[in-house]
Amino acid sequence: MAVFKLDNVEDLYEIGSVLGSGHFGQVCEVRERATGVLWAGKFLKLKKSAGSRLGLERKNVEKEVEVLQGLQHQNIMALKDVFESRAEVVLIVELIKGGELFDFIAEKENLTETEAIEFMKQILKGVSYMHQKNVAHFDLKPENIMLSDKHAPNPDIKIIDFGMAYRFIQGEEYKSSGGTPQYIGEWSIGVITYILLSGLSPFQGETDEETLRNIVAMKYEFEPHHFSQTSNMAKDFIQKLLVKDQSERMTAEECLIHPWIKPLNRTQIAKRNRSSINMKNFKKFNARRKWKMSFNMVSACNRFSRLQLLCKARGPEQQELRDCESDQEDTSTKPASLLRRRLSSSS
Ligand code: ATP
Repeated sequence: MAVFKLDNVEDLYEIGSVLGSGHFGQVCEVRERATGVLWAGKFLKLKKSAGSRLGLERKNVEKEVEVLQGLQHQNIMALKDVFESRAEVVLIVELIKGGELFDFIAEKENLTETEAIEFMKQILKGVSYMHQKNVAHFDLKPENIMLSDKHAPNPDIKIIDFGMAYRFIQGEEYKSSGGTPQYIGEWSIGVITYILLSGLSPFQGETDEETLRNIVAMKYEFEPHHFSQTSNMAKDFIQKLLVKDQSERMTAEECLIHPWIKPLNRTQIAKRNRSSINMKNFKKFNARRKWKMSFNMVSACNRFSRLQLLCKARGPEQQELRDCESDQEDTSTKPASLLRRRLSSSS
């Protein structure tokens, strides 16, 4: 069992404002008392007892920590320290100030494909690095793609939230999944690119059932009306990712040398410069639903692929999914420190 620091996190870090929240707790800005440096603290509530329906199992937190400890990359949120108390584990991580990539883009007047590609390239570099380390993120979606600093001339992409991530042991019994397991998440890059270019979700149906059927069948199309500004190279890129057979799908490494990302000649460069993202759709979509629908849809895709893989590879009894219930609405059982923070942030 991993041992996390048992010090009281508040002795070493001053807890600041809430930056965001997830299913199992909050993320706050924190200031290291000794140095004055700002970090983010991810406060994860633990299950009170084995039978408890609320909170996370400690072993799942350990998994997130182990994955993050093994990843050091410019495009992946860095982990600094981990503290634990009876009720919660606190991850001290790199503070990411620039917000979500999609919100940043939605504020722009227009964006050429060339500009969008600069962001995609960084996402791909992060994912490709994860693969080298045998890690699959399994929850790659717009809200987990952030920017280091949106005012920087060339802000860095930072991939966050490794709560669903999985580290594969090379050569172990995953062959039944019909491909290299860590590559199963590649299609979420296809989904994200599709949304980014068109402002539409590729598998969106009239009902949830229809959406799920479309996902399972990998049924989608490029409606000419919405893709009129999109280059054929971009469509080819997406088509090579939204492929049902995982072994046929482009890997992140292959994506990085696809001509849309890495053009081979001037003609291809010019095509990317002439093509742009459908900003009108993109803004509308972002404003109307704050990407709720696409988050859910991409999450559904991610969960589906993760389940498929882990069921095939390990047997359902070994799935270590974060399958406990969300406790966001649970106010009566908040750990003391969370309550403290809530009080101080509202005062
Ligand atoms: P989920 O329920 O989606 O699994 P989670 O509990 O694992 O979420 P995160 O997704 O890691 O939590 O973080 C929740 C939110 O906090 C993010 O959407 C983001 O807005 C914010 N956040 C997370 N990490 C950072 C960070 N390092 N710097 C700044 N903000 C962050």
